[in-house]
Amino acid sequence: MNRFAWVNPGSVEEAVAALGARAALKAGGVDLMDLLKERLIAPERLVNLRAIPGLDGIEERADGLHIGPLATLARLAEAQAVRLRYRALADAAGRAATPQIRNVATVGGNLLQRPRCWYFRSEDFLCKKKGGARCFAQDGENAYHAFLGNAVCAAVHPSAMAVALLALGGKLRIVGPRGEREAPLEGFFVTPEQDVLREHALGPQEIVTEVLVPPPAPGASSAYLKQGEKESYDWPLAEVAVLLEREGGRCRRASIVLGAAAPVPHRARAAEAALAGKAVDEAAARAAARAAVEGATPLADNGYKVTIAEVIVRRTILAAAQGSGT
Ligand SMILES: Cc1cc2nc3c(=O)[nH]c(=O)nc-3n(C[C@H](O)[C@H](O)[C@H](O)COP(=O)(O)OP(=O)(O)OC[C@H]3O[C@@H](n4cnc5c(N)ncnc54)[C@H](O)[C@@H]3O)c2cc1C
Repeated sequence: MNRFAWVNPGSVEEAVAALGARAALKAGGVDLMDLLKERLIAPERLVNLRAIPGLDGIEERADGLHIGPLATLARLAEAQAVRLRYRALADAAGRAATPQIRNVATVGGNLLQRPRCWYFRSEDFLCKKKGGARCFAQDGENAYHAFLGNAVCAAVHPSAMAVALLALGGKLRIVGPRGEREAPLEGFFVTPEQDVLREHALGPQEIVTEVLVPPPAPGASSAYLKQGEKESYDWPLAEVAVLLEREGGRCRRASIVLGAAAPVPHRARAAEAALAGKAVDEAAARAAARAAVEGATPLADNGYKVTIAEVIVRRTILAAAQGSGT
């Protein structure tokens, strides 16, 4: 790890000013410390977002849920309003990583963490994501890699928060050198075809200052399920968040997002269309789940993930259909 200066900004504006080409922003530091140790970054300054007070709130207002970027996953998982009315988000936060990591990891850092592909993380492989010419996973060890959208880079997007927040229609408040802007999570994540070197559309001197989730529509309910290789802490083989809005027992609108499937959180639009207008029962969930994995392009060792994803989509749709809160 390189030597760096430690900056404790007093405000978001001071933090923005301290950022730039040779600086990195630190929230909980779980991913950032790994990036430093793996020599994927070598900043001259670390800007400590946690020095700024008031960025860790979790508050439900008339216009929805306001989450500070420094709210930890543990607090989000336990917040009563989140558990009651934003169920998919609470469960995604509560199932990520380990209790120790959830006590430190923040919502903002989780959304903006970098992929865990072992070729990307290893100094020994100059993959496309680091400016090289090859995606080593495509003909290498790819059992945990993407089975959708994997033509350029096969790393899966790592963030459980992204999966749940995208399904619930979340957006980000962002502050940068040119002031404040809002960005819906829909369209915020960048595919390898758009730019293989990055995963999101945040500028180098921009900071996420709030995550906003709209209030549940009447008749809405949501669920999040994750399947790993083991019951104790694990990265997902499949994770799915579903938001259902129903009227008269039928699905008015569904939002279905798959994680661990593609380089960005994958909105399964064919599955959403398959549910529209239907009573959400076992047959409808099964048909939608099949549609969710249509077009899969599995690699040599990850075909089993397609089957698991299909099962988890079906189960999550049915879990959302049983719930009353979002
Ligand atoms: C063993 C292990 C298992 C894990 N399992 C899971 C899992 O199952 N699911 C899952 O989702 N995650 C998992 N993680 C990842 C973990 O949840 C993330 O690393 C963590 O949430 C990152 O949050 P942080 O606050 O520590 O971010 P940091 O490491 O501080 O920051 C991460 C990145 O985000 C940027 N950043 C942070 N906050 C902001 C902001 N407000 N504005 C702009 N940029 C910002 C930083 O500059 C940095 O680039 C796991 C990690 C480990 C080590």
